[in-house]
Amino acid sequence: MAAAPALKHWRTTLERVEKFVSPLYFTDCNLRGRLFGDSCPVAELSSFLTPERLPYEEAVQQDFRPAQVGDSFGPTWWTCWFRVELTIPEAWVGQEVHLRWESDGEGLVWRDGEPVQGLTKEGEKTSYILTDKLGEKDPRSLTLFVEVACNGLLGAGKGSMIAAPDPEKMFQVSRAELAVFHRDVYKLLVDLELLLGIAKGLGEDNQRSFQALYTANQMVNVCDPAQPETFPVAQALASKFFGQRGGESQHTIHALGHCHIDTAWLWPFKETVRKCARSWVTVVQLMERNPEFIFACSQAQQLEWVRSYYPGLHARLQEFACCGQFVPVGGTWVEMDGNLPSGESMVRQFLQGQNFFRQEFGKMCSEFWLPDTFGYSAQLPQIMRSCGIKRFLTQKLSWNLVNSFPHHTFLWEGLDGSQVLAHFPPGDSYGMQGSVEEVLKTVTKNRDKGRTNHSAFLFGFGDGGGGPTQTMVDRLKRLCNTDGLPRVQLSSPERLFSALEGHSEQLCTWVGELFLELHNGTYTTHAQIKKGNRECERILHDVELLSSLALARSAQFLYPAALLQDLWRLLLLTQFHDVVTGSCIQLVAEEAMCHYEDIRSHGNTLLSAAAAALCAGEPGPEGLLIVNTLPWKRTEVLALPRPGGAHSLALVTVPSMGFAPAPTPTSLQPLLPQQPVFVVQETDSSVTLDNGIIRVRLDPTGRLTSLVLVASGREAIAEGAVGNQFVLFDDVPLYWDAWDVMDYHLETRKPVLGQAGTLAVGTEGGVRGSAWFLLQISPNSRLSQEVVLDVGCPYVRFHTEVHWHEAHKFLKVEFPARVRSPQATYEVQFGHLQRPTHYNTSWDWARFEVWAHRWMDLSEHGFGLALLNDCKYGASVRGNVLSLSLLRAPKSPDATVDMGRHEFTYALMPHKGSFQDAGVIPAAYSLNFPLLALPAPGPAPASAWSAFSVSSPAVVLETVKQAETSPQGRTLLLRLYEAHGSHTDCWLHTSLPVQEAVLCDLLEHRDPTGPLLLRDNRLKLTFTPFQVQSLLLVLQPPPN
Ligand SMILES: [Zn+2]
Repeated sequence: MAAAPALKHWRTTLERVEKFVSPLYFTDCNLRGRLFGDSCPVAELSSFLTPERLPYEEAVQQDFRPAQVGDSFGPTWWTCWFRVELTIPEAWVGQEVHLRWESDGEGLVWRDGEPVQGLTKEGEKTSYILTDKLGEKDPRSLTLFVEVACNGLLGAGKGSMIAAPDPEKMFQVSRAELAVFHRDVYKLLVDLELLLGIAKGLGEDNQRSFQALYTANQMVNVCDPAQPETFPVAQALASKFFGQRGGESQHTIHALGHCHIDTAWLWPFKETVRKCARSWVTVVQLMERNPEFIFACSQAQQLEWVRSYYPGLHARLQEFACCGQFVPVGGTWVEMDGNLPSGESMVRQFLQGQNFFRQEFGKMCSEFWLPDTFGYSAQLPQIMRSCGIKRFLTQKLSWNLVNSFPHHTFLWEGLDGSQVLAHFPPGDSYGMQGSVEEVLKTVTKNRDKGRTNHSAFLFGFGDGGGGPTQTMVDRLKRLCNTDGLPRVQLSSPERLFSALEGHSEQLCTWVGELFLELHNGTYTTHAQIKKGNRECERILHDVELLSSLALARSAQFLYPAALLQDLWRLLLLTQFHDVVTGSCIQLVAEEAMCHYEDIRSHGNTLLSAAAAALCAGEPGPEGLLIVNTLPWKRTEVLALPRPGGAHSLALVTVPSMGFAPAPTPTSLQPLLPQQPVFVVQETDSSVTLDNGIIRVRLDPTGRLTSLVLVASGREAIAEGAVGNQFVLFDDVPLYWDAWDVMDYHLETRKPVLGQAGTLAVGTEGGVRGSAWFLLQISPNSRLSQEVVLDVGCPYVRFHTEVHWHEAHKFLKVEFPARVRSPQATYEVQFGHLQRPTHYNTSWDWARFEVWAHRWMDLSEHGFGLALLNDCKYGASVRGNVLSLSLLRAPKSPDATVDMGRHEFTYALMPHKGSFQDAGVIPAAYSLNFPLLALPAPGPAPASAWSAFSVSSPAVVLETVKQAETSPQGRTLLLRLYEAHGSHTDCWLHTSLPVQEAVLCDLLEHRDPTGPLLLRDNRLKLTFTPFQVQSLLLVLQPPPN
């Protein structure tokens, strides 16, 4: 007979149940203590240790030595292979038998030559199911291999997660045994934990909470852990509770299996290859055991790694993709940073990604998937739309430090007006565990209640991989429809977004960038990576253009499509959101620098090959070919290599996207009508540089005291202030060292004061004038700078070399402008946007440090000052002060980051009128795409030649390359964009033999409207503000 009803104390009742399932307390008598039954050691354990990441076939051939539980192995980044010989006791027939394995590091079980499951303590995977039910005739002896990587899920940080890795760390195997697993105990544990979660989550004000608690309490009453025959009664109590259904209006949670694997971060790229295998092979196992379980998987690069290193696993993933359980998502090559890659790079992320997904999995992705990145460019909606994507999922904006973003489901409208449906999982995580607390949070935190009744719930260990566990799946299945809780469906991205689209007329719209109010140091950290990124984007641009021109002009030229694809993929890889951002460990940074070096060296070879093909066939002087890879005519000073290793400066004019023969030293043009550069040093050692367009005055320490637009006499530097002022800040964030610069750093501003008398004249004038100086930044760091003014050039350049040896300091350079405006303009991908120069609201001051690409501008009516750069991304304009962020000195996770020598250039351009009309955009391009002087192996063409030109200064012809699909190789792809923010008609002119021209999308699919009208080698294009358009040009067959 049951005991009489009793008063129950909330806390003690709750804790009673907690102790019943506790892995720590009372395991001698509680339910948890019965999860495993009989156990026995493995028959034989042996190991082989290696510093390399060997393929299985090679590893298992090695000399394995006897090993035992308790052994240590390591150090960090090594691999220990264990051979595990098993003999299952005969007495266990009829039982579920597991290999229980606990060790530090990340393990992978191999069985019969194939990977079968990850084993990682941190990822709650410590047992491998040998058999669900041991049959009488089943073989009871087998051999497994466990490959243990000497790093944790999140690397091997010394002391804290984001500390630099500890190279000496040792690892230990603490359990290797066979055990009988009690499935019925496990099921009760899952139920009791959920009931506890419901009781706690709904709280003492809630009727359903008490029902959950009392059900759990009664289950403990009836359940004797030592008497399995008591379990069904307890199980029935739980089933009754979970079977009580909710109402029609319940919120629906779409639970998606997920595993965020950072492509490199606190571990090197090569370890990520294995992380993918460990995580996904476990996912395959879960998909086999749970037909309703669906897993969303992003990043083509990771799938490509698995395809090449684990072909068996890849084939399994393809099978599960066919049946809809494995869902490739995202559409991009990697989950790239959302701020720093150029517009063209972002296009290539999708182009490479979508092509890969189509090729390997039969279809393209229909959603962009970027849970974890540090901001989102306002051009992404347009790029997504033109890549076949109108849905977007992310989560990171929940990290905003100052303002909480007002939506979880909304329409995101980009710079050009393109819209996508955006969803942030309201539980604010992409690595849920399936707990009741998370399920409830997903409903309560949703900022769009009443507008939509569906949410995403991404579950599975993430960042370092790991992924979902069976327990997570079981929890979520149990919560499919229970009164008092949201409905939980194991769902797919397709079902989630379709449901959200069903309510889209109710949704609000957010216009412009999604700015993350955190991690703003990532625009600056690791200057060499930033420089490598900018430089490689330029090299690939130039190689593609020149190779396209060579293809058009030479029947013999072979376009290096395969090599270019490889190089692009390397660059795209380094644009991963913990690499280009500089938030990675030293090992990763070194790997990235190798990738940049590969792109540089191959790129230069390809440039030479294209130049050689361009020179072939036309008689002319031997020597140099001067190439302009930009779509407008340029007249610039160029240093030409001369015999004997010397250089001479020459003013050269090169037509748009074309070339000109190099002037011979004797044929130097007279400078007229342009005024030569005058350089004057005053007796106080200040220097004035004047090219008739701008006049620059530097004080004796190299600071800018005056910058005058000569024609109007207009001064650009604020009265009583100086520009080119270097400033140092203390830069100590709260935790995320490489990532964060905090608002309070602004309070520690210290101008770096130079010493008078260090300024000297460099180049004395004529085609170029310059002055240079040295500046001691601190006892440990110094810089030297050459301030250069060229004939005819509307901007003054600052070539800077810094020797930087600091800890937690931030170096910037400031230019107070004689300009008043409440907003400044910053270049972004394929366009620009405004941000406030004041701190009126929290949304304004949260943007105290922002990102820009090649230029920023502060303009009032009729006049402005632009600050250009060749490899920087961090910037700000507060009041009238333009500030460029130069170098940081964080110590985690890379203790060596940014220490040493740096070279970079920025430039200052005062202008009248708007920055658009004044040509700031082409100036910033010119600074970033110098004219090329390429050696002509044979005779260089005798006359100048242009391949393309555009009639409107508002339209930039950004990219010329061979089309992805190019019959006979003779189709070119052109990408243009409207850069001024205006409706514009323009004419594109080409001297190439074009037979057909047709618009296409960013994936190069032809526009159904058919070919464009092409007359006299011209075609007309119409643009809306910031619109990107792509064009296929089919060339005529080569002449012979
Ligand atoms: Zn990440």
